Amino acid sequence: MLSAIVIFVGLAVVFGLLLGYAAVRFKVEGNPVAKQIDDILPQTQCGQCGYPGCKPYAEALANEEADVNLCIPGGNEVMILISEITGLEPKPLDESAAEPKPKETAFIDEDVCIGCVLCIKECPVDAIVGATKLMHTVIQSECTGCEKCVPVCPVDCIEMRPPKPSLDTWQWPEPQNRPTMEEKKHE
Ligand code: SF4
Ligand code: SF4
Ligand code: SF4
Repeated sequence: MLSAIVIFVGLAVVFGLLLGYAAVRFKVEGNPVAKQIDDILPQTQCGQCGYPGCKPYAEALANEEADVNLCIPGGNEVMILISEITGLEPKPLDESAAEPKPKETAFIDEDVCIGCVLCIKECPVDAIVGATKLMHTVIQSECTGCEKCVPVCPVDCIEMRPPKPSLDTWQWPEPQNRPTMEEKKHE
């Protein structure tokens, strides 16, 4: 009897280890077609395609829920690549897509936030962190600027702002109203 239990426990451990190894070794990250499409999109997250960023558009394409011609910044080149990946017919670019607008990201006024978690539930890319009845904040590098979180906040403490400059994006400010050489002579 004891030997049978030992054999069963031994088998359970061996199969458990095998399953654990297979789960790690053959893990598939999300939808591979969506990933392939996302890799060729421009990643400007401008929303001109009508989706809140490149990834949601790629996922809609992979699920055959979107047209191949909605990414204006990607142009014909990207449209052709999308049709090759998805097998959908190429189409002329949809110039009626939304106007581009400067990139903005969401900021939460942490002193006003009541921690209702409504914004977290609304964010399609999990860019907001926080917990019930605790202050929430936006991970700026993850925010696509889709603005979906703004209208759901019951205390209006989310606003869209141009992203804070980073070491990669900071630029010298434009010189303003500098006097010309001629004007300097007459000063
Ligand atoms: S139109 Fe859509 S897919 Fe194309 S860059 Fe903008 S957000 Fe990305
Ligand atoms: S705007 Fe709001 S909902 Fe949209 S990605 Fe940024 S934090 Fe998420
Ligand atoms: S919806 Fe507004 S109040 Fe609620 S957690 Fe988000 S930022 Fe805070």
